[in-house]
Amino acid sequence: MKPAVIGFAAHSGTGKTTLLRRLIPALRAHGLRIGVIKHAHHTFDVDQPGKDSYELRHAGAQRVLIGSRVRWALMVEYEQGGNGDAQPTLAELLGHMPSSDLDLILVEGFKHEQFAKIELHRPSLARALLCLHDDSIIAVACDESLEPVPPVPVLDLNDIDSMRDFVLAYIANHSAAVSQPALAAAATRDEMTLMSGAANVPPPSGTLDLCYEGDPDLLPAAEATRRIQAHVPVIDDTQTVPLTEALARVLAHDVTSPLDVPGHTNSAVDGFALHGHALPSTGECTLQVIGRSFAGSPYPHSVATGQCVRIMTGAVMPAGTDTVVMLEHALGEGESESDTACAQTSVRIASGHRTGQNVRHAGEDLKAGQLMLRRGTRLMPAALGMLASVGIAEVAVTRTLRVAFFSTGDELRSLGETLSLGQVYDSNRYTLRGMLMRLGVEFIDMGVVRDDPDLLRSALDDACRQADVVITSGGVSTGDADYIKDLLQQRGQVGFWRVAVRPGRPLAFGVLCNDTNTRNTVFFGLPGNPVAVMVTFYQFVQPALLAMMGSQAPPPIPLLEARCPEALRKKPGRIEYYRAILSRDADGLLQVRPTGSTGSGLLHTMNDANCLIVLAEQQHDVPAHSVVPVQPFFAMV
Ligand code: AMP
Ligand code: MG
Repeated sequence: MKPAVIGFAAHSGTGKTTLLRRLIPALRAHGLRIGVIKHAHHTFDVDQPGKDSYELRHAGAQRVLIGSRVRWALMVEYEQGGNGDAQPTLAELLGHMPSSDLDLILVEGFKHEQFAKIELHRPSLARALLCLHDDSIIAVACDESLEPVPPVPVLDLNDIDSMRDFVLAYIANHSAAVSQPALAAAATRDEMTLMSGAANVPPPSGTLDLCYEGDPDLLPAAEATRRIQAHVPVIDDTQTVPLTEALARVLAHDVTSPLDVPGHTNSAVDGFALHGHALPSTGECTLQVIGRSFAGSPYPHSVATGQCVRIMTGAVMPAGTDTVVMLEHALGEGESESDTACAQTSVRIASGHRTGQNVRHAGEDLKAGQLMLRRGTRLMPAALGMLASVGIAEVAVTRTLRVAFFSTGDELRSLGETLSLGQVYDSNRYTLRGMLMRLGVEFIDMGVVRDDPDLLRSALDDACRQADVVITSGGVSTGDADYIKDLLQQRGQVGFWRVAVRPGRPLAFGVLCNDTNTRNTVFFGLPGNPVAVMVTFYQFVQPALLAMMGSQAPPPIPLLEARCPEALRKKPGRIEYYRAILSRDADGLLQVRPTGSTGSGLLHTMNDANCLIVLAEQQHDVPAHSVVPVQPFFAMV
């Protein structure tokens, strides 16, 4: 099955890449697997001098293929000047694009070639409309209304949903080979597809339930993560919030520093500002103290040879000085204590100092014009401080993710109710609430829902109407009162519902559609057991919510390795997480011990823990005193 090809053509500076950066996640959310071909006018290089691959290519290799666990890249050199000024054609580049696993190839550039293209046009740039002379253009995406009306459909350049729907409709209607690409692709690649409710794409059907049902093998955890990450949509609405409300929110745009920080060269310590020439190489020198420079109240005159200025931390360095000697290292007249040195009219400085010491230079932290925070940064306290340090009082962030959750189970009672035999208090809603609050999402607590298919169905519909993500706990395994998976199948699509992890094996992921099939909501059906809820939330749900918030996560913290004095039982074929305490043994080496019994209902063992021991899928029983991988719990920074 060949992928569809759609181009985006425009005069330079119209914002093709910006548009594609928003459109790609919207299309990905519909299960399309996307390739991009981009034309570059300049001589680009994807590699960097100093990297082995770069050096090998420059040593004369005409092709260098570099591969790793996450991606591979093939770099091909044209013969020495071989292609001369001739630009590669689109057909040539399409021929190089491995496309058997793609549904759609988006092409940026190649505006003079004849193939289906969407033109980007901004009347404010006063450039001619390309579609008037190019009948391969299928639509114009514009940021204003157009007069006269062009001969092709006009789309709103800023309305990504309608751009996405146009592309989906186009590939559904115009390509014999690629009609319903998401459906066709999903059917062949044995994978869930999140379907659109858009008019031209059929509503979901049970036929895409490819969740290993009846398969003795559970879905491996890494594949579950891959599916989740491939299918959750990124929220692209933004809002502006004051810095005081921006904690844990995700930056919607790059932020450039408007100022140098610090704005002036200043002293890093309390002491005496002087010129480095004055420093003695042996013995001592005596300098006259001619004034004071305070933070916020600089010394206004120049400092001449033989003079110095008493200076406080953060105060501007006076003209004629480049070095600060700490108060504690300066001597007043005679052998006076350091705190009396400042009162002296002269001060003695011994040898052993270095020109330039104890000085903070203007722009040392941030330079005016420098990219200081990237789009996708999750704003933690350090980032909030950085923004404040350059005078930025409000920031554009992605809108808050709305997460609805409820617990399921006839035996559950809410706080304040009295328990009868066999009933338990609903604790999952409180752990979930806590985990969600720490992520900074907006949540809708829908309480407890009984194990009744009608009640559960209407709760799911209700949640779907209100939220971007719905999380339930309980009722997801194969017991007689476990309805969640079947309801998910009726109301949307099951991506998977059993994962090879312990605790947490029954974990459902999929998408719910609202009554009119116009809106998709991501769904996680967590297990009922309280520890399994927490483990699956941290391993699968939290990364998905962060991705939906647009967070470009910093690289994951590597697992630590620690010796475990106890033997651990382990069944191969699934990841097992042991709640544990990481500490140091008598020799100062890392040691880890499980917090107790492994029952997935024992919430106190989670509370006692400060880490999880992570035993890999293929691991068998672990003998005592083995070194095991450990994932520490980290507070937010
Ligand atoms: P289930 O997956 O619904 O069969 O539930 C598995 C176990 O978790 C049962 O013992 C439930 O009583 C317990 N459980 C389910 N939901 C909750 C909850 N919200 N709070 C506390 N325990 C729960
Ligand atoms: Mg239950």
